[in-house]
Amino acid sequence: MTKHIFVTGGVVSSLGKGITAAALAMLLEKRGYKVAMQKLDPYLNVDPGTMNPYQHGEVFVTDDGAETDLDLGHYERIAGVRCSQASNYTSGRIYGNVIARERAGGYLGGTVQVIPHITNEIKDAMRSLHSEQIDIAISEIGGTAGDIESLPFLEAARQFKLESGAHEVIFLHLTLVPYIRAAGELKTKPSQHSVAMLRGIGITPDILVCRTEIPLEEDHFQKLSLFCNVPERCVIEELDVRNSIYEVPLELARQKLDECVLEQLALEARPLDLGSYRLWLDGVLHPVKECTVAVVGKYIKLRDAYKSIYEALHHAGIAASAKVNFLPVESETLEHENPATALAGADAILIPGGFGNRGILGKIKAAEYARVNHIPFLGICLGMQCAVIEFARNKLGWQDADSTEFAPESTHPVIALLESQKQISDKGGTMRLGAYPCKLIRGSRSEKLYGCENISERHRHRFEYNGIYRKALEDAGLRVAGTSPDGNIVEMVELPEEPFYVGCQFHPEFQSRPQQPHPLFAGLVNAALDNRKA
Ligand code: GLN
Repeated sequence: MTKHIFVTGGVVSSLGKGITAAALAMLLEKRGYKVAMQKLDPYLNVDPGTMNPYQHGEVFVTDDGAETDLDLGHYERIAGVRCSQASNYTSGRIYGNVIARERAGGYLGGTVQVIPHITNEIKDAMRSLHSEQIDIAISEIGGTAGDIESLPFLEAARQFKLESGAHEVIFLHLTLVPYIRAAGELKTKPSQHSVAMLRGIGITPDILVCRTEIPLEEDHFQKLSLFCNVPERCVIEELDVRNSIYEVPLELARQKLDECVLEQLALEARPLDLGSYRLWLDGVLHPVKECTVAVVGKYIKLRDAYKSIYEALHHAGIAASAKVNFLPVESETLEHENPATALAGADAILIPGGFGNRGILGKIKAAEYARVNHIPFLGICLGMQCAVIEFARNKLGWQDADSTEFAPESTHPVIALLESQKQISDKGGTMRLGAYPCKLIRGSRSEKLYGCENISERHRHRFEYNGIYRKALEDAGLRVAGTSPDGNIVEMVELPEEPFYVGCQFHPEFQSRPQQPHPLFAGLVNAALDNRKA
């Protein structure tokens, strides 16, 4: 039977609940337990797919095509679990299901209410993680204790525990113990208040994890234990890590969080061997070379908007014993700037995915600058589309070459709406989403990088390379390097003459893992290092 951990947050948002939950999951997995993870988000959008990255950060895409919260990226990268549609539920999705059932007559005669109908739906979502293969399920509840929005989720979790046997369900509360510089003191009061708030709705945390800048002292542990009603050994300090989020699991292991969790769940503390992880982390913390990769995007001010891209570059750097510096370039400003100035110092250029017209010209300019100056280049999704447009305009001389997303009247629509999208008008969850197979062209750079011919990558797009122009583009030098297995959708392009110039319609960043960098990112970073040396 699957046991369940609920992770809640207190005091402030952005405490790193996702990273903490993922680090805990990693430790449990390393002790031989099978873990599944889930994020419960209080907002009313059905999924974050329709939200602006400035509102929400990156949309993480799963194999089965769910558009989800970026915390799922942490789950996959840190904990190594595979996420799915069951890994992210929002209030919008929960209410949507209940309301659809009401309209279909599913509750005929009844008044549909938050309790029990919404809370039952939430409990079903929580339980959807349970299976014979899963020992422990972790549900992270978004928001902060005291928010009106997250109440139904907390209420459902309370009921969930009530309906379960002893040691089946535990609550882990992540809180902040702020350091007041002027007084030179750590303060436990905000944590006391946030736990009081949870207890007011019937939840008593079993474990308190305290984010802190400086180590807690004995009397802090005692105070937190006494006022928060948590045994002292279950008050866990989570000290800020200095250099890498991949230090967090070690920090939590040092504080015995995993042992505490297993004790509370009445599970055996199987041996934990972090030796090889420690060795790997040592390499992460002590790179011997460096390079700089420019990332040209329109939400560039917000790091979280391109979370998986930065992580994937970091992973590729780790494998090459290199530190990868990021040069974030705002695509809209690049439109009015000299690219040689804006991109100065970049050993490679990456254009990530995106939507809409703003900043497109800047991205096209960056792709041109990379091609003309032989700078290693990776274009992802919209980045590949911009590279194709740039090539058509500047190499083939088709001045108005464009994507029909931006210029429906273009006489050279080198990027056009996918056939399968033509009848679709709803915006939510209707793109070409999730993992699709791709066949690489024999002898292409991409096939060499992947080391195989058949790959599977995650997608999120409506537009595609327009096959009508394939011959002209290929004849001029922009080679197709990968297609859908039926050959109809162009998935990859490359310039074989360049040191590294690759575009992909899919999102390789979602499958990069700390200890297994993605081949395309590894290729880009290695080319950047060569470029720097040269
Ligand atoms: N806007 C483009 C499309 O829909 C690219 C999408 C993306 O970069 N994720 O095809």
